[in-house]
Amino acid sequence: MKKCDFKNIVEFIRNIYKKDFVALHEPVFIGNEKKYLNDCIDSTFVSSIGEYVDKFEKKIAEYTGVKYAISTVNGTAALHIALLLAGVKENDEVITQPLTFVATCNAIKYCGANPVFVDISLKTLGMSLDSLKKFLDNYTEIKNGYAYNKRTGRKIKACVPMHTFGHPVEIDKIIEVCNEYNVDVIEDAAESLGSFYKNEHTGTFGKFGILSFNGNKIVTTGGGGMVLTNDRELSKKAEHLTTTAKVSHPYEYFHDEIGYNYRMPNINAALGVAQIEQIEKFVEIKRKIAHEYKIFFDKMGIKFFTEPENCRSNYWLNTIILENKKQRDEFLEITNKNGIQTRPAWTLMHKLPMYKSCFKMETLNAEYIEERLVNIPSGVNAYETN
Ligand SMILES: *Cc1c(COP(=O)(O)O)cnc(C)c1O
Repeated sequence: MKKCDFKNIVEFIRNIYKKDFVALHEPVFIGNEKKYLNDCIDSTFVSSIGEYVDKFEKKIAEYTGVKYAISTVNGTAALHIALLLAGVKENDEVITQPLTFVATCNAIKYCGANPVFVDISLKTLGMSLDSLKKFLDNYTEIKNGYAYNKRTGRKIKACVPMHTFGHPVEIDKIIEVCNEYNVDVIEDAAESLGSFYKNEHTGTFGKFGILSFNGNKIVTTGGGGMVLTNDRELSKKAEHLTTTAKVSHPYEYFHDEIGYNYRMPNINAALGVAQIEQIEKFVEIKRKIAHEYKIFFDKMGIKFFTEPENCRSNYWLNTIILENKKQRDEFLEITNKNGIQTRPAWTLMHKLPMYKSCFKMETLNAEYIEERLVNIPSGVNAYETN
């Protein structure tokens, strides 16, 4: 890439955001946020009981089309609860992808289980169906109805594909393969609120799905998460586990198992209700930004990552794939130096000290992407929302 190309890119991004410093992803509060927060404070119900929590859960269920949504303090806690309720136990293995945020693997470890890594697909940047199949077909054996990893001797209990940067994985096919091996699927949809696969919302296909409402996600509650499920029994258990496993009673305190203080406070939910009211607008703006990036980068001969087939993506974080690591480093250096916040892919999970001894398949696609991927500014604070 030439010097003038970089100059054009910086100029183009500044122009979308009408700012000299452009963050990677800023939240916007242009709806009823202050009104609901004030209302919440006036009510004195700022903690884990309150009507905004119920309202927010109902709105998320309605929007995603899932039967039950249970709010949590963050997305990591939602993953932890989903894995526990899927029956993931100490020394089990959980299949996931090397290109993800560390929370996915940490939640697996919180259960005492170990992640195993299959490759990603270059078409979705999420879990590769081929690599998953290869792992289950060639590296596992069935005993007592469960798949065991032949190398480690451990039971494969669950699989956590992640919809990377909001782009849906081939979730129906992944579930089909996992079903053959009695492996439960939990969708890490932390990044994909507003993304649909074959007209159905991500996070609603698996036994569980989880969402995150961290400050950098498309909808934020400050910090927050949600467990999604269509199973009534499991939804009740999720509610129970996230509220210290307290048995409901007007005044007595009795807890029937080790629970967690994982429920979302009402004050966060108040923010969430105001934010989710604007989801269609947010997705529309993000798709418009992506559309303009696509036209621009096409002209420059740079690969801009677009939604996979049969999908409608929220384009949470816009992504370009550069030619090589050298070009990527140059791009990161120049954009960041000029006030355009850009960042590389997460370091692959199997390269982190705590996960480097985990079992993994060949991960050539993940390595290829790790060296070339850059996320560019994607916040909703563009155009008329400034
Ligand atoms: C944001 C995120 C989470 C959850 O993060 P929290 O900060 O705990 O809400 C989990 N997985 C992925 C892939 C994420 O991007």
